[in-house]
Amino acid sequence: MREERFKIERPPRLAFPVITGWRILDVFRNALLPSRCAGCNCWIPAVDPPRAFLQRIGPGAAGDGKSADAGQIQDAAETSLQDTGLLRLEAMLCGSCRKHLVLAEPPLCKVCGKMFKGRQGPDHRCGDCIRQPKQFTSARSAVLYTPGFREVVHRYKYRGKIQLAGPLGEILLAAFLRFWASGDMDVILPVPLHPKRFRQRGFNQAYLLMQHWKHFESSLAATSRVLVKTRATAPQTGLGKAQRRRNIRNAFAVLRPEAVRSRRILLVDDVYTTGATVNECARVLLKSGAEQVNVLTVARAV
Ligand SMILES: [Zn+2]
Ligand SMILES: [Zn+2]
Repeated sequence: MREERFKIERPPRLAFPVITGWRILDVFRNALLPSRCAGCNCWIPAVDPPRAFLQRIGPGAAGDGKSADAGQIQDAAETSLQDTGLLRLEAMLCGSCRKHLVLAEPPLCKVCGKMFKGRQGPDHRCGDCIRQPKQFTSARSAVLYTPGFREVVHRYKYRGKIQLAGPLGEILLAAFLRFWASGDMDVILPVPLHPKRFRQRGFNQAYLLMQHWKHFESSLAATSRVLVKTRATAPQTGLGKAQRRRNIRNAFAVLRPEAVRSRRILLVDDVYTTGATVNECARVLLKSGAEQVNVLTVARAV
């Protein structure tokens, strides 16, 4: 009983055995099986001290003998969840690719989640969202879509490196808990792929990321086959803002309107570039009676 309370009151202590086990494993892995970087594909010579862990779990958080209150426990749980994801991701990257892992942090655009260059002041709407109001209520991301991180996403999505789904799913969930409470959403939907694209790729990248959520939050379940893509569209890459909007227009449909009517929807995707895709999804969801649509992505274009 005493042991139980001890564990609950000081969750950050759990991080210590995790990191120790991780380091031991790394020593063996590096000696026997040098791995390739999930970003640039170079051979990773040795694993450096994990940056995310050292920065975020400081001496105070590592267990100072004092019991924490509920808020601190919640903060620590979110931080350690994020660290677990970042740590696992960093272990798959070389030193230079790790530098491209940048958290999306406030001040952000209240609507589209764009990270402002000035690092002071409150969140506010960006010029683009003022000029062109969005269908969704808010969009948030875990990290920035830096050139290095683009390689990671491409390896995951196009080269089938699905081992990345675990750590990417964890940083996605940590971002969700950073910006919302789990009770804020009624339905979670992945942005769908057209069946033809799904057959080519073999998996839906957003849905696969959320499969890793159930280890942490059993109340958050993703639902597929509610929102579907009915028209195969040309890739959005290389298109301008207006072209992207036209390209994706009327490409989605809601198969089961009763599943979204009067519900708060969380739409999940891998990358937010101009927001054309999620905005179009939000439009059809709202047309089918959704109360509001929010967007969560792993990465956000800078
Ligand atoms: Zn690399
Ligand atoms: Zn904006």
